[in-house]
Amino acid sequence: MRLSQKAAGLKESVIREMTRTFNARKGLPGANLAQGFPDFAAPEAMKQAAADAILNDINQYAITWGAKPLREAIATKHGRFYGYTPDPEREITVVCGSTEAMMAALITVIDPGDEVILFEPFYENYGPDTVLSGATPRYVTMHEPDWTLDETVLRAAFNDKTRALILNTPNNPTGKVFSRSEMELISELCQKHDIYVLTDEIYEHIFYEGEHLSIAEFPGMRERTITISGLSKTYSATGWRIGWLIAPPDLTDGIRRVHDFLTVGAAAPLQQGAAIALGFDDAYYDGLKTFYLQKRDYMCGVLAECGFKFRVPDGAYYVMTDFSALSPGSENDVEFALRMIQEAGVATVPGSSFYRDPATGSKKTRFTFCKKEETLILAAELLQSFARKSGILI
Ligand code: PLP
Repeated sequence: MRLSQKAAGLKESVIREMTRTFNARKGLPGANLAQGFPDFAAPEAMKQAAADAILNDINQYAITWGAKPLREAIATKHGRFYGYTPDPEREITVVCGSTEAMMAALITVIDPGDEVILFEPFYENYGPDTVLSGATPRYVTMHEPDWTLDETVLRAAFNDKTRALILNTPNNPTGKVFSRSEMELISELCQKHDIYVLTDEIYEHIFYEGEHLSIAEFPGMRERTITISGLSKTYSATGWRIGWLIAPPDLTDGIRRVHDFLTVGAAAPLQQGAAIALGFDDAYYDGLKTFYLQKRDYMCGVLAECGFKFRVPDGAYYVMTDFSALSPGSENDVEFALRMIQEAGVATVPGSSFYRDPATGSKKTRFTFCKKEETLILAAELLQSFARKSGILI
C-alpha cells in the first residue's frame, strides 16, 4: 500500500491512544482527564431546539455557509462581547467544528512553501493542519514558568515566506491568556509583514484572570484576521461539530468556497440548536466561568498536593504539569502517562504531543478538569493513592 507523503507523515493522535488504553481497563475505577470534552449534560434549551428542528423536518442541507438564524445569532453575540458586529451575510461561515475552521482558514490563505508561525507548546492539531495545507510550520516557544514570549525570537520568526500566524487564546495546553502587550506586539509584526492571523478563540468564555482579548479588535487587525470559535467548549457540545469563522468579506468568499468542497455544511438541525444557545443571557457566561473556576481550584489543589509542578491556568480547562517528582529517572512522558493509567486509573495527555521535539515535553503531562464533580473527586482519590505509592504523600 502506498500512502501519500502527507498521510504517511501524520502520526495517530496520542490522545486517542490514551483513551483506548484507559477504556481497555473495563470495570476498574478510573477518571479520564485526557481529552477535553465534558462528561456532563449540555444545556437543555439548546438540546430541545435541536430535537424540535429534527421533528420539524429541518433535516436537509442547510445553506452551505450556515443557516441564517445561526449566522445572525453569531453576529449578535459577537457584537455583545466585542467591539463590532460582523455582517452575517458576508463575514460569517458556519463549519463542522473549529477543527474544520482552522483547516479551511489555512487552505484559504496558504500556498505551498509558505510559512506559518505557531506558538509552542501548541494544540495538537496545528502542526498537522499546517502540513496538510502545504505550509511549513515555524515554532516560537512560550517560556515557562509564565509561558512568556521572547520578543527578539518572535521578531526573527517573520520572514519573506511567512504568510500566517496561528494564535490560540485562552490557550490549550498552557492555560495562558495572551496579554494586551503581547497582542500589540503580534499586531505590529503582522501588519509590518502583511501576515494573516488565524485566531482560535474556542475558549473565549473560559478564563479566570485578566481579560480575553480578541486580536481582530486591535487597530488595523480586523482586515487580516480570521477569528475561529465554536459550540464545543462554551456550550459543552463537542459532539455536535459546530464551529464558525468570522473574517472580512473577501477572505470569507474564499473560506466559503473551501468549506463547500470540504464538507458542504454543518448538521442542519444542530445549527438550529446552536442558534438558541448563542442567545443565552449573560448569567450563562458568568456561570460558566464560576463553574470552571471551582474545578480549576479544586484540581490545582489536588495536583499540587500530589507532587505535580505547574503554573495555575488563567484560562481554558487544562493544567500542563511537570511530573518529575513522581517519576525519578528516565521514564518519559508517554511511559509515565501509560503507567498512570494502569497504576492510578487516571488518563492524561503526554507532554510530547504539544512540542515539535518530544524531548521538550518528556517530563510533562496535561490534565483536563472539564469533568463533573464526582469524576474530579474520584480522580483526586486515585491520584492521592498514586502519590502515596510514589512516596510523595503520607
Ligand atoms: N481548538 C482548540 C485550542 C482546542 O483545544 C480544541 C479541542 O480541544 C479544538 C480547537 C477543537 O474544537 P472543535 O470541537 O470545535 O473542533
